[in-house]
Amino acid sequence: MPTTVQQSNTFALPQRPKEQNRGLVIDKDQYPSLRLQLINHLQTSLELEQILKLFFDEVQKSIPLGSLEYSNSRIQKNVNFGSVTKNSCEYKLENQQEPLGTITFTRARRFVETELELLETFLGCLICPIRNALMYREAVKSSLIDPLTGAGNRLALENTLEREVGLALRHNQPLSVVVVDIDNFKVVNDTHGHAAGDAVLANVAKHLTTCSRETDSAYRAFRYGGEEFVLVLSNTSTAGSLIVGERIRSSIESLETNYTDQTLKVTVSVGVSSLLNDDNMSRLFQRADKALYKSKHLGRNRVVSAGSLQLEPMDLVIC
Ligand code: GH3
Ligand code: MG
Ligand code: MG
Repeated sequence: MPTTVQQSNTFALPQRPKEQNRGLVIDKDQYPSLRLQLINHLQTSLELEQILKLFFDEVQKSIPLGSLEYSNSRIQKNVNFGSVTKNSCEYKLENQQEPLGTITFTRARRFVETELELLETFLGCLICPIRNALMYREAVKSSLIDPLTGAGNRLALENTLEREVGLALRHNQPLSVVVVDIDNFKVVNDTHGHAAGDAVLANVAKHLTTCSRETDSAYRAFRYGGEEFVLVLSNTSTAGSLIVGERIRSSIESLETNYTDQTLKVTVSVGVSSLLNDDNMSRLFQRADKALYKSKHLGRNRVVSAGSLQLEPMDLVIC
């Protein structure tokens, strides 16, 4: 485990100002106890943002800072604390050549040599907590993702639904759920093989995720199980969810999956439901599932709403 900057962490050192030893009155003898104090604080969390906040607050006790910015393009993360001012110094964090992101500090007054020296001593304590936080983040993320399709898994769906239903009820905002089930999927497996079925599942999931980026209301796709997917549409009423459902149905109808030398096509049946007053997560989901069942019963490849709003096109059905 790296303990100092010099041993196993590399930084891209900033330009040192010419000014010497002004503004910092901490004796070098105090560095070990300051480091220990900082390490004790940093190891209280595994959350990246919280670790950075703890670091920012602790460092400020010794070195006045205007702002801290952390950015990591690999995980597309940007974290900011404080207000940015004109003097800055930037450090690229690495552990055994593994990039861990970039930290930029700013403040109104120029950084002097002794402050940068202490800052670098402190940064040495940040490497391990950041690396652990990134690994933790990765582990949490993969525990919520379905490996075959890359969609959120059932646990992720439950977490999202619980959070979104709570938020929608608290703020009196609409929320809808769309359940999508591939029609006669067993036939795809039986005719073309299980691997071909897997390719179709992955392609449908990818398409659902792509669709989500093209809509105004952002949603995430989850694989509920087998060949069934669920979308959670925050801030979306029944009318909006029927439009999303129909867009999904019609676009999947023309979606092609190329597998070896074959081109496979499927259709989906869709059930939608919207949150009611005094509703809960399981009732909301059950209504969408019931609407899906009705859609199957009516002949598949159609959208059925559990609500009472009838919309074009003609294959939208209300139950
Ligand atoms: P329906 O239109 O009524 O939904 O018919 P269906 O054939 O799609 O539904 P059914 O429940 O009869 O069959 C679902 C099939 O999905 C059977 C199962 O083997 C297949 N399946 C479930 N998970 C996977 C998977 O991960 N990969 C593949 N290739 N097939 C899967
Ligand atoms: Mg099916
Ligand atoms: Mg099914």
